[in-house]
Amino acid sequence: MPVFVNTVIQKNYTSGIENNNTPITILTSSVSPQEVTLHIFLKTTTIKTIQKMSATKGYAAYNATDNLAPFDFNRREVGPHDVQFEILYCGVCHSDLHQVHNEWGGTVYPIVPGHEIVGKVTAVGAHVRKFAVGDLAGVGCLVDSCQECDNCEKGLEQFCRNGFTGTYNGKDKISGGVTYGGYSNQIVVDEKFVLKVSDKLPLANVAPLLCAGITTYSPLRHWKVGKGHKVAVVGLGGLGHMAVKLAASFGAEVTMLSTSPGKEQDARHLGAHHFALTSNEEQVKELTGKFDFIIDTVSAEHNYNVYLGMLNTDGVMICVGAPPTPSLISAFSLIGGRKSLAGSLIGGIAETQEMLDYCAEHNITSDVEVIEMAYIDEAYKRMLKGDVKYRFVIDMATL
Ligand code: NAP
Ligand code: ZN
Repeated sequence: MPVFVNTVIQKNYTSGIENNNTPITILTSSVSPQEVTLHIFLKTTTIKTIQKMSATKGYAAYNATDNLAPFDFNRREVGPHDVQFEILYCGVCHSDLHQVHNEWGGTVYPIVPGHEIVGKVTAVGAHVRKFAVGDLAGVGCLVDSCQECDNCEKGLEQFCRNGFTGTYNGKDKISGGVTYGGYSNQIVVDEKFVLKVSDKLPLANVAPLLCAGITTYSPLRHWKVGKGHKVAVVGLGGLGHMAVKLAASFGAEVTMLSTSPGKEQDARHLGAHHFALTSNEEQVKELTGKFDFIIDTVSAEHNYNVYLGMLNTDGVMICVGAPPTPSLISAFSLIGGRKSLAGSLIGGIAETQEMLDYCAEHNITSDVEVIEMAYIDEAYKRMLKGDVKYRFVIDMATL
């Protein structure tokens, strides 16, 4: 006979169920202090299995202005299709900063950022096939999607019609509540969203591939950028330096467009064939009509029309940077020369694996500055000044 979950039991489970006012009726239960699995029947007629949770240490922003601080929370126990891994390194993306400061809106505090996650598998569910304990693993910006819509079926989980679940500040469909990201010591993710990581590459340098890598790889592949193409990359930060490395490795002629004169030597070292300062009007004028593709990785407000002017006939400017403020674009910047302004969002899971395998084969990784967890606020301040060479990566042993 069904019994109602009492508050003591509820408290042992996910915050989402606590927060969710749906009356819960237990149909079957095997409740014991150590191992608890409850099959519950929600009013919504969804059958869910809720399991005991695992304590997790993390670092969170509690509001938009204060420094980040320690935050303890629970992750779900390993389900039959889940992989649990100890997080060894987590990259610091400018998206973390945008969301910590609630620049895009919709941030739920406390927020545990981090979506460039690598580590070592500590447990796998009974039905997991791809991973075993001790394997290296990675998680990027996605931890769930409907798996049923046309986009998911095409491997474009980032465009899931029913909304993908972001690795942090996402709506957690399994546990309820919000998802917490990689500034933490462990994570539990369905194996479909866990990536295989090569042991041939230094792990700290691999972490940024999970976002900066795939976000630049995906549009370069989609538009088939390669030999014979002139490509410009705008902004030499985390995404920008991966765009330079990848575009150069695909055989394109790469120009770095930067606001920082001090980055020229590095840009060339990363693989750029040319460098131009966007604050120098003469240099900008010389680039009129020059590029087949422009990858714009800039995180702050800037004038898109300047860069559209640098496109060749039928050229495509691809925005991957996500400044919080919109930009005014003149139709005249596009119609003369039949130019396209496009955008791209991370990449699907299969493509992320393809990118990781490509990078392992071609020895491509991110240039990183490994930091301690407590350095994060300083790292954010430096990112805002464009002072990062070229990705901060947190050593999670310092959490
Ligand atoms: P980042 O490391 O901070 O690099 C951004 C670079 O943009 C800076 O280093 C700087 O390069 C340039 N820049 C900054 N302010 C500028 C300004 N006012 N005008 C012109 N250039 C400026 O950031 P990131 O982690 O690479 O991320 C870049 C953007 O991509 C962020 O908005 C992030 O949210 C977004 N993002 C999007 C996706 C996606 O799927 N589309 C994924 C990840 C991140 P220079 O010094 O060379 O000028
Ligand atoms: Zn990112």
